[in-house]
Amino acid sequence: MFGYDEVLQDVRFAFTDRFGGASKAPYGELNLGSALGDDGEAVVENFRMIASEFGVQPDGIVRVSQVHGRDVHVLKPGDQLPVRPMPTADALVTTRPDVVLCVRAADCLPVLLADPAQGVIGAAHSGRKGLYVGVVPATVEAMRELGASRITAVLGPYACGNCYEVPEDMRAEVAERVPASYAETSWGTPSIDVAAGVRAQLGELGVEVIDATSCTPAWSWGPGSRPSLVAPVASLPPLLSPGREAP
Ligand SMILES: [Zn+2]
Repeated sequence: MFGYDEVLQDVRFAFTDRFGGASKAPYGELNLGSALGDDGEAVVENFRMIASEFGVQPDGIVRVSQVHGRDVHVLKPGDQLPVRPMPTADALVTTRPDVVLCVRAADCLPVLLADPAQGVIGAAHSGRKGLYVGVVPATVEAMRELGASRITAVLGPYACGNCYEVPEDMRAEVAERVPASYAETSWGTPSIDVAAGVRAQLGELGVEVIDATSCTPAWSWGPGSRPSLVAPVASLPPLLSPGREAP
């Protein structure tokens, strides 16, 4: 279920893989998106299993409708759960200790962030477009507005620079704004390294980066299968949050 699952200073960072869920082929077992035609019931069941692993109700996994933009949804202390309609955004931040923030990615880069001391967490979905428009810097800014100061970011699996082939002019356009993203595939054609670009954006903002990246084919794609979606979640685990009892 989790290809990465670490508790760092009371904040749990996890990236799901494609195994251990209810979806049938050609979707990854743990598919978390219904947009590509998977059975909605299976996706609901998959979220239920993940929520259970995190010790929250399924409604406690807060999601956004992702559009490759730079809007950040701020979940406020009094907001009702579930958050409906799902906000249109590519990132979430909150100071609430009782929720799991979730972004979904196929080959885009998921980024999970936290300032554990200040109790501020965030999650962002950044592919090529997100890199270009700066969704991760926008997330850091939103976290700082909530009081975050020392932020750590964990970068998850994505289509790496060795694999993410793009037209030459696209590489040039993105590299003009984020030079660190300039890359070449393992077969010598133009590519974009989204994580290298995001790492540079975070470095400029003084955010510590933990690199948990790997290339997505090993995580979410099987031979002959269609891409399934991975769902990284960041949460203050109920068991570790001060003043809260376990559900
Ligand atoms: Zn790769």
